[in-house]
Order: sequence, then structure tokens, then C-alpha cells
Amino acid sequence: MIPALMPNYARADLAFERGEAARLWTVDGRRFLDFGAGIATSSLGHGHPHLVKAIAEQAARVMHVSNLYRVPQAEELAARHVAHSFADSVFFCNSGAEANEGMVKAVRKYHAETGHPERFRMLCFEGAFHGRTLAMIAATGNAKYLAGFGPPVEGFEHLPFGNMNAVRDAITAETAGILIEPVQGEGGVRPATLQFLRDLRAACDEYGLLLALDEVQIGMGRSGKLWAHEWAGIEPDVMSSAKGIGGGFPLGAVFAKEKVAKHLKPGTHGTTYGGNPLACAAGNAVLDVVLAPGFLDGVDRVARSLWRRLLDLAARHPAVIEDVRGAGLLLGLKLREGLANTEMQEAAVKEGLLTVAAGQNVLRLAPPLIIGEAEVEEAVELLDRACRRMAPPAQVAAK
Ligand SMILES: *Cc1c(COP(=O)(O)O)cnc(C)c1O
Repeated sequence: MIPALMPNYARADLAFERGEAARLWTVDGRRFLDFGAGIATSSLGHGHPHLVKAIAEQAARVMHVSNLYRVPQAEELAARHVAHSFADSVFFCNSGAEANEGMVKAVRKYHAETGHPERFRMLCFEGAFHGRTLAMIAATGNAKYLAGFGPPVEGFEHLPFGNMNAVRDAITAETAGILIEPVQGEGGVRPATLQFLRDLRAACDEYGLLLALDEVQIGMGRSGKLWAHEWAGIEPDVMSSAKGIGGGFPLGAVFAKEKVAKHLKPGTHGTTYGGNPLACAAGNAVLDVVLAPGFLDGVDRVARSLWRRLLDLAARHPAVIEDVRGAGLLLGLKLREGLANTEMQEAAVKEGLLTVAAGQNVLRLAPPLIIGEAEVEEAVELLDRACRRMAPPAQVAAK
């Protein structure tokens, strides 16, 4: 018989009851170090007092009122994000896919309103992940996610990640923009080179295209800067955010330059829950923490330490780990052929560490941004033990 809860996930048999910072406890009392953070979402970890207080206080006052009215919490959150990003204006929604939908709509609207309604196609990249709505599975372009859902939404084309010649060749009179994750998350924790991002910016300027960055996973501090594109010294025209921006409370956002945002006049786009008082109270509390002096430097420092220790780990376990990749606190261990990332994930669970699988046989590490050196050391020790479960030393020697 079908479970009451729809069977569309392959869930691990773990149920959590309580969390504190980077720790989670299951209902049966097992303790875990959380290096998955709900897929890069619980940016402040679990039970962060400032976030908990902000949500509790706002919930008691007023949770939801609709965008028929002014929402001061949303005005404040937008103003703060504008002050700390390339954007002139921000639209709030509830998820990453919804943010990407809004972003692509904004790109199409811009061209339609500036005399080029024929420009509606987005250039996307192999290995991308942009979400699960009808348009975003087309933007993702992964056959597995498209199968059975009818003809893909038109207007998304896929190019090799990092290949500038392919990008230039693909630009036509119908191209509206380029959609890319600065660091591919689900696709296997693959960073674009900073030069590729700069070249994309230049191509967009040359051909009058809009650069649309999907920073749903790597943004909001995870890279060690507030937004990952800052590392490349470029600015997009539009950007999507979600996951970490609400610290675990559902919140998404479309960031845009004025030239794009000004065409989204009343009635052109909307969403019922988007940017309600409760969600924005959470968003403001997350921002308080992430923008506190020294916080992002701390993320960068701890990320570099984790990176170094993972390189050591890989050197100790060459039969298990082929490569360490990623950026900031979104890191991946690419496993040797013949070893499955899902098995390594299970081995880590046995050692008390939560991680997330990603494409290309990568084990993804996306801890809360609040971790310190102690959690890094512990996680690498647990990974070391998980590696030994994957390839016991005796077996390695026999090969
Ligand atoms: C998770 C993710 C999405 C989709 O976000 P949802 O909140 O699941 O809709 C989109 N883009 C990227 C890069 C993501 O990591």
C-alpha cells in the first residue's frame, strides 16, 4: 500500500527530534554532526537563539498579511540586501525554483519591454540544477528529471560548463540571457572558474544579454563572501537566492538591477506567501548574523581549514577519494569509480556524520556557516573512519 506521505523521496531511516548548532539528535537518541544543513539551508545551524527569537516574536505578532499591503519587514530586508549587493531591487518568494522562475520571467520581460520580444532563450549549462517546476526542469536539462513530464518548456539550451567558445557559438538573435550557478551544487560541487564568469559577463555586455546567476545554494555567505560572484569581481543583472537566506525558514528572492526590475509593474508577477512578515523576520535575523563584523571572514577561514584537511584525507585514502572540489563551505569529495557516493554517505551516517550526495559521484559537505575549527576536525575524523569502512586498508593493499 502506498504511504500516506508521497513516496517521491528515497529517505534515509533517520528522524530528528532536536538540533543545536551543528548537532542533531534523532528520536531514538542518536547524535549527529550535521554537515548537510538540510542541503545548504540551515545556514545558522539549528536552534540559533537570534533566529528562534525573531521567528517566535514575529509569529506572536503577525505571521501573514498578503502583498495587498505594505510589509515593513520585507521593505527592511530588501533595503538591507540592496545595500549589500549589486541589486537595486529585490522580490521575495518561497523557494529556489520559484526564485529562478521569477528571475527568468524578469529576463524575458526586460527584452519584451525594450523592443526584443523575440529574445526569450536562456543559455544554460550541463550539470546545472535550477529546481523542479516545469520550466526549471527544462532549465536543469537533466533527462532524469524531465522524463514523463511532457514536452520540456521551450527556451533553455545546454552547453558544456566552462566552454566559452560553445557559449559564443550558441548566441543567436533569440538569446535573452545566460543562466549559471557560480558553483554547481547538485550537479557535483563544480565551481566555474572566475575567468569563465568574467567572460560570460563580457559576452552578455557585448551581445546585450542579461547575466542571470543562480546563487540559491552557494550564495548568502556560503562561499566566504556574501555572494559568490563577488570573488570574480563581476555583477550579474539578476540573481536568485533561497536555501540559506531564511536559515531554514522557506524564503527565496530575486535580486535585480533597476533596468530589469522596473519592468515588473503591478500585476506582472506575484506570489501569496512571498515576503510575508514571518519569512522576512527570519531573513532579517539571518542577515544580522551573516553581516556581523568578522562573520564572513570566519566562514572563509574555517572553509580553508576544512579544504586543507580534506586534501590530507584524500592523500590518506587515495583508493577512496579521487578529488576534492568546491568553494567555501560547499565542498565535495569525488569518489573513485566503483565506489558509490550513497554508500559513503551511509558509512558516514554510521560514524555519526550527515552529508549529502551530489552528481558525478560526489559526496557533498555543506555544513552550517557557524561551525568552528572543532567541528571541522571532528567531521574529518568521522570521514576518515567512513573512508576506512569503504576500503579497509587490508583490501587496498591486496589490490
Ligand atoms: C536547491 C536549488 C534550487 C531549487 O531550490 P528549491 O527551493 O528546492 O526549489 C535551485 N537552484 C539551485 C542552485 C539549488 O541548489
